[in-house]
Amino acid sequence: MPSFKPPRCPNADCPRHTDPQPRFYRRRGSYWPKCRAAPIPRYHCKSCSRSFSRQTFRHDYRDHRPELNEACSCC
Ligand SMILES: [Zn+2]
Repeated sequence: MPSFKPPRCPNADCPRHTDPQPRFYRRRGSYWPKCRAAPIPRYHCKSCSRSFSRQTFRHDYRDHRPELNEACSCC
C-alpha cells in the first residue's frame, strides 16, 4: 500500500491550508472502519490541531460517485 502524505490542512481557516509546510501534520493513531481491511492512519495539524485522515481528502477529490459514498458511509 502506498504511503499517504496529507497535501495540506483541510481546515480552510488554517494557514497550512493554503501554505502547507513540510511535516505540518503529526500522526495520531489510526482508526479501523468495519468496511476496510486495514486501519486508516489519522493525523492532526500542528497549526490548528484539526484532525483528519486520508479519507478527508478522498472526499474532496473524488466526490463524483455518490453511489459509492452511500454504499460505505463510514468511510
Ligand atoms: Zn491546520
